[in-house]
Amino acid sequence: MPADFANLAVHTASLPGWSLATCLENLAAAGVGGISIWPESFAEIGLDAAAVMVRQSGLRVPTLAGGGLFVEDGNAVARNLRRLDEAEALGAEALTLLPGGGARSLEAGRAQVTAGIEALLPHAEQTGVKLALEPLHPMFAADRACVNRLSDARAICEQLEHPLLGVAVDAWHVWWDSALADEIAKLGAANRLFAFHISDWPHHANSAAGRGLPGEGVIDLKRLRQLLRKNGFEGMDELEILGRAPDPREGGDLLADLLQSYREYC
Ligand code: ZN
Repeated sequence: MPADFANLAVHTASLPGWSLATCLENLAAAGVGGISIWPESFAEIGLDAAAVMVRQSGLRVPTLAGGGLFVEDGNAVARNLRRLDEAEALGAEALTLLPGGGARSLEAGRAQVTAGIEALLPHAEQTGVKLALEPLHPMFAADRACVNRLSDARAICEQLEHPLLGVAVDAWHVWWDSALADEIAKLGAANRLFAFHISDWPHHANSAAGRGLPGEGVIDLKRLRQLLRKNGFEGMDELEILGRAPDPREGGDLLADLLQSYREYC
């Protein structure tokens, strides 16, 4: 059980309907140490205002989400170079890279992901922002992700062999993998565990619709969290409860539920 929320970051998408300012204010007041930011959350106010706001809050930013999507997209590298600049401005430690999908084969897609990441590495060095490649559940293999297992992501890391390239372990995407413990050990030994995203896989079918809070599903999050720590992961725990409907409740009630579930089940 986590002792407090100092090493916890809450993803802005976990608090639907809240502005970035409301997220920062409530997270800081609750003693949460960090915030993971989705680019949509500063689209309206603009990057400069968001960067000032985030820095004034004193919260850490373990990741800027929404990078990557390299497959069959000629603008992907240019877009991700801008994302790296945004991450630097926000003080984010890493940019999360979603693989992308829709190539003529998964192998061809992975080659495009590898080439795309390779093109970003010089700018990652300039900005000091780490790149965290995130495998997505195989249900997305056809259209959104050609990197589905931690071993797929590790293979790309090994091919490019760069200290700023590692992996984001998202519990919801990889919990089913029988090689989970082995892969986390291998990634840890190579210093490639860059991010840990937490949500639960709800018991009932049609899970693509939304993610559960810790404790609402089948994932042994305590075991997974311990596994990461045991293998050298020193980053923040990121609560990333995507796909939930906006909560009509005001103020801190929604956040209080998130924090309670984290404390109890992680
Ligand atoms: Zn994630």
